[in-house]
Amino acid sequence: MEIIRSIVRMKRIAQRARSDGAVLGLVPTMGALHEGHFSLVRSAQDRGSSVVVSIFVNPRQFGPNEDLEKYPRSFESDCAALESLGVDYVFAPTPEEMYPEEFRTSVQVEGLSNKLEGRSRPDHFRGVTTVVLKLFEIVQPSFACFGRKDAQQLRIVEQMVADLNLSITIVSCPIVRSPDGLALSSRNAYLLAQERQAATVLYRALDRARRKIEAGERNVVPLIREVRETLAEKDLVTVDYAEIVAERIFEPVEQLKENCLLLVAALVGSTRLIDNARIEQRGDSFEVTV
Ligand code: AMP
Repeated sequence: MEIIRSIVRMKRIAQRARSDGAVLGLVPTMGALHEGHFSLVRSAQDRGSSVVVSIFVNPRQFGPNEDLEKYPRSFESDCAALESLGVDYVFAPTPEEMYPEEFRTSVQVEGLSNKLEGRSRPDHFRGVTTVVLKLFEIVQPSFACFGRKDAQQLRIVEQMVADLNLSITIVSCPIVRSPDGLALSSRNAYLLAQERQAATVLYRALDRARRKIEAGERNVVPLIREVRETLAEKDLVTVDYAEIVAERIFEPVEQLKENCLLLVAALVGSTRLIDNARIEQRGDSFEVTV
């Protein structure tokens, strides 16, 4: 496994690999890797590709009062884990390499980027799409893997790829959870023991909504009430949003009539966590994946 710090070198290596006939798969991450990230790597490997994992804590997707400074960093153990998985390349540029002083450009997917996560975190998605487009251009992979854990990010990246006619397939991968249901996240490392325990309520809230939908509920108001009541069972949890939106446009719906997402964001103590469930129409019924 080769660790690459410079953009020029990453471009050169990727170009050489492509001309030698390799199919490149990219897995963009911010490091502090866990099973969620590893599942993306395996999914890329299953497609028979040479895998590039990028590790870059992207300053441009953090707001001024967010956790950029304290975001968990574990580069050595991340690389050891990726090496044992058989990853081919780790691309780990510095912020200065990615954003030299004269850097001026950003990419914004209009409409999708200012709601839900974007409402709570202005400029977050602009930072994400800008770095993802740079990574796509540097590596020029055939495909890139993203987790459904960050459902809005995934949708926005898909839209960017369509709008800009990028020749990259976006592969979406299921949410990986711990046995008690909590979605794996690098930010779970911030949780104190009591908060870690309380955080499982996000999963339980989604799961209760799932059961209600499977029992025939189609109205959004009682579903969201159930989610909020469940989240309210834990004093340490403060809801930011709980909404059901149409999957493609991320606009709220009143009734389940199409593929939707149930999205939640909450503070657990002072740690902000997000989670979601997919609500897929199957004929007259809906299948919910939490
Ligand atoms: P991050 O390092 O948090 O920016 O995440 C990098 C990629 O891993 C993104 O595509 C995430 O959606 C994905 N990811 C993070 N956590 C999970 C998880 N629990 N299950 C599946 N994918 C995940």
